[in-house]
Amino acid sequence: MSRLGTRSPTTLALRGIRAYAPPTLGLNEHLLVASRVGGLVLPGRAGVKAARELRAYGFDGPLLVDPALYADVTKRHDSEVASLDLDTEPDWLDLQLQLGVDMALSPTPFIANNDRDALHQAIRGGTEFCERAADAGLPGLIVLPVATNFLTRDIVNFVEAIAPQRRPVALVLADRTDPYRFRAAIPNLLALIRGTKDVVLLRSDHSAIGFRAFGASLAAIGLTSATRHLVPPGSEGGGSRGDRSPSLFVDSIAAYVRGSKLERLEDDGGALDCTCSVCEGGSLKRFGDPRLKDEARRHSVEAWSSLAARVLDAPESRRAEAWRHYCRRAQWTREHLAERTGVDIGQRNPLQGWSQGET
Ligand SMILES: [Zn+2]
Repeated sequence: MSRLGTRSPTTLALRGIRAYAPPTLGLNEHLLVASRVGGLVLPGRAGVKAARELRAYGFDGPLLVDPALYADVTKRHDSEVASLDLDTEPDWLDLQLQLGVDMALSPTPFIANNDRDALHQAIRGGTEFCERAADAGLPGLIVLPVATNFLTRDIVNFVEAIAPQRRPVALVLADRTDPYRFRAAIPNLLALIRGTKDVVLLRSDHSAIGFRAFGASLAAIGLTSATRHLVPPGSEGGGSRGDRSPSLFVDSIAAYVRGSKLERLEDDGGALDCTCSVCEGGSLKRFGDPRLKDEARRHSVEAWSSLAARVLDAPESRRAEAWRHYCRRAQWTREHLAERTGVDIGQRNPLQGWSQGET
């Protein structure tokens, strides 16, 4: 029996949604999120340490540790890096076994520049890792951290490379800002889900809920911008420089938006009032204040976990339609808000992609 009571049958973890948590948030915050979502994914060596702390505290819920080798600029599958020295890496399978994870994630370097050779090399390495994991009695995931152009410009080859794999593939999409902003991103990800056996999305935003609704077996939502996608190693993240206001999830328009932008939506007609247990009816416009960063993150978890429960509680055959319906309504609210306030909010392409999404 869990000391934290996080294993109730209603947890989102059992519906295939987890929180992807930066280790720097610390034990208390990890416990808080785990109590809401049920399961966490923690990256890198610092993630191993954080996972040990959670287990030592008594957390016995679902936990994944992502080796996140791809975040290390010196370990790229890339001709610019002379040699790929993995000798200094710990045994990532042993580490994950010790932590009682429910699936083992392969340590994979970043796959840059539409490099198909590197993609095949990563699949081979991931498959070997999964075979070792299977021998130890643990299901494995082939982690594929790829530049988004694999998805937006080379989708046919990308699906062909993944389709024959017997092991599930876990995607990490790299982009300086938002990998879903491209018109082809959502339709092509759905094509990937349809054309392959088992796909997992790591480091996603709320779109994770849509991917689950459309048949991905598991998806993890990042608690911070840096864990909602991967900034290609060696690049600088995009976003508004000098703007320290938090980026938070706005359920009514299905988007992460900076507090500074929400602040400008003066005449929102109540569209930004939030009934979650953090906001208790207050307006999201208050998050223009950078000091409310922690509160904004807690609001986001509350908001997306409620949304996930609403969509994923539907019978499997009706989940995709529930998500499409949510996206269409959010699109309408967004247009209405833009008309009313004169402020344009969020990327159009992801919502359009979802609204027309095929199962
Ligand atoms: Zn709220």
